[in-house]
Parts: sequence; structure tokens; C-alpha cells
Amino acid sequence: MTTINNFNFDGKKALIRVDFNVPLDENFNVTDATRIESAKPTILKILEDGGSCVLMSHLGRPNGVSPEFSLQHIVESVSEIIGVQVKFMNDCVGDEVEKSVEELQAGEILLLENLRFYKEEKNGDVAFAEQLSKLGDIYVNDAFGTAHRAHASTTIIAQFFTDKKCFGLLLAKEIESIDKVLNNSEKPVLAILGGAKVSSKITVIENILDKVDHLILGGGMTFTFVKAQGGNVGDSICEDDKMELALEILKQAKAKNVTVHIPVDVIAADDFSNTANTKILDVTQIPDGWQGLDAGPKSIAIFDEVVNKCKTILWNGPLGVFEMESFANGTIALGHSIDNATKNGAFSLVGGGDSVAAVKQFGFADKVSYVSTGGGAMLEMLEGKTLPGIEAINN
Ligand code: AMP
Repeated sequence: MTTINNFNFDGKKALIRVDFNVPLDENFNVTDATRIESAKPTILKILEDGGSCVLMSHLGRPNGVSPEFSLQHIVESVSEIIGVQVKFMNDCVGDEVEKSVEELQAGEILLLENLRFYKEEKNGDVAFAEQLSKLGDIYVNDAFGTAHRAHASTTIIAQFFTDKKCFGLLLAKEIESIDKVLNNSEKPVLAILGGAKVSSKITVIENILDKVDHLILGGGMTFTFVKAQGGNVGDSICEDDKMELALEILKQAKAKNVTVHIPVDVIAADDFSNTANTKILDVTQIPDGWQGLDAGPKSIAIFDEVVNKCKTILWNGPLGVFEMESFANGTIALGHSIDNATKNGAFSLVGGGDSVAAVKQFGFADKVSYVSTGGGAMLEMLEGKTLPGIEAINN
């Protein structure tokens, strides 16, 4: 794997695709700077070598040029986090931008305007990618969050850099961490898949069955499995059209010697509300009018035991509706179990949208081995797909 550590950037201009698609409040202040902080090591190494950085990113989903999606809003945050006053260009291609890049001195950083102000970015337009490619000597991709997209700045651009292209430190770490779980794992290997629906995780489950010894299935998808096996799930979220598939997955797991653990009890509620009446019920005996919204105490204890006997742990998706305090306990307990297993030497990787939000919210982010920065990208890697942004550097 070629990373920035394979290059000396002295006197060079690095054109870095970063993922600065950060959340902003109504006054355009950055409310979560994790993605900027994650890019810092790559930027600093290049500056320390004696190089300069041209940063390109998207922000949100603009329809053409729209000021509310300008990357100008984040200039001060980036400057503060990196510790260098960042220059800004109100476009990302063209003569003016090329001139600014030309004038950029060693140690300086130039942030370009939102790539998605041009529809050519998402379309993977070759001419647009070629224009971008004029803005640096070495292309660095450090944007895991968009590595599954064949966009101009994430994939197409790489063809203009032949051997002058590499991964940034963040993207390299993401690739290494997932590889550590899927291909170079210490056994026993455990995957915990939660979240709302089976349908969004099917391909992940199928691919992962070849890689793991234990599989914990929790969250809303529990009930499709339970109902398929004849249980009563009441008003719990359930995909009836996926019941056959659920049985097929269980069959495949058995054939592949994977032990599947599904919650045995739940915190059931009489309404999808934080203030609903609740009771602990056997997962197969939920009456109509009640729905399972979190894992129950017996399940938590069983999961704790499984987690603590495994040496490699992958966690994607919460065990309950953690956004409501009344149904966050299962997800928090699982976080504690993984924290404990990690302290005892297990490698733990958390990734995929909502579980990242959960580990951050409950303070586990620095207690697990690695928290992935890419939701969709991570899921696609877990599905066994080759991501275009990664392939473009490797080829
Ligand atoms: P996903 O994006 O598929 O990982 O799903 C995450 C969402 O699943 C979160 O917003 C949770 O609130 C939701 N979720 C987890 N458990 C349940 C459940 N038992 N019933 C309904 N939604 C759930």
C-alpha cells in the first residue's frame, strides 16, 4: 500500500482529497470537527517535509453554486485545528485557482471551494478531473467517507498521477483496520450487527459469515429473525418479506460453523416514545400493542460473555433505539463489554453511521481500537466490494 510515508514532499505541492463534509449549525459553525481532526496527521507530515497542501472536499449536497454550502464557513475551524492560517479560493478549478496554487509556498495550505458546486464532480467527469489534477504534484486520497464513490476527485483524478499518487494516513488506517478484521484477524472473530433493518445489512451478513466465528444480531433486525422462527414480535419493527432470507442466513451460518446470537429478551414499550410504559419480555412473546426497542438484561449478559471471549470484534449498528434514553441501555452495555475486551487485548473496530454516533455519545470512542470515519464506505468494504477510490490508488 503506497502512503504519504513513501514520499518526501519537500518543495512539492500535495493535492489532497479530504472529507470535510462536517455538520454546521444555523450560524455555519462546525458542530463536530472529527473529520477535520482526522486529516491533521496527513497534512502535518506533508508540511513538516517542506511541502504545501491544496485541500479539496465536498460539503453537503448543493445543487450548483450555493453559498450555504461554501467551504469558506470552515476556514477558521481548519486553521485552528491544523495550527496554520488556511488560505481559501472561491472556486476549485480554473486559471485563478491554478495561479493561487502556483504562488503557494512551502508550509502553506490552500482550501478550495466545494467540489460539488460542479455537477462534473459526482458525474466522474474526466475533463473536470484533469483540471483538478493541475493543482498538485502528488495526489493524496485521505477521504474514506467518499472512497466508495467513483467521483472526479476521489477516483477519476488518479489516472493523471501515474506513480505520484498515494493514500493519506487516515485512509491507510481505515484500510488496515478493516483488513485486520476481515483477513488478518486473531480468532475467535465476532461481528455484531444491529440497527433498524435486515434489508440494509443482508449483503454484509452474507459476506461476513465466511470471516467470523460468532455473529450477534441485534436492534430492529432481531424481530425478522424471531418471527421467521415462529415467535410473536407484537408491533416490533419486522420485515415480513425478509423472513425467508433470515432463515436462509441461519442455515448458512450453521453450515459455516458460525454461532449466531440473537437477543433472548427485550425492553418492550407500548409506544415508540421515551416516556412509553416498558416491561422486560421474552423476545418470542411480545403481545400486540407492544414493541421491542432495546435488548433485555439476559441478552446483555449473554452478549457480554461472547464479546469477552473474542479476540477480534467488529461492531456495526446499535442494539436498540439508543437515541431515546429509555432504550439506550443495551447499546451502552455493549460498549462497556467491548471496552473491557479491548483492554484485555482484543482488536475492536466500530463503524457505520449510527454506531459511530453511539460510541461518541456514550464516551467509548477512545476505548475501542478504531472508530471508522466512513459509514457507507465501511459497509461496502464489509460487503466484500472493492472501493473505486482505493482501487484507483492501488492500480
Ligand atoms: P442502521 O442505520 O441500520 O444502523 O439503524 C440505526 C437505527 O436503528 C437507529 O436509529 C436505532 O434507533 C434503530 N433501531 C435500533 N433498534 C431498534 C428497534 N428495536 N426498533 C426500531 N428501531 C431500532
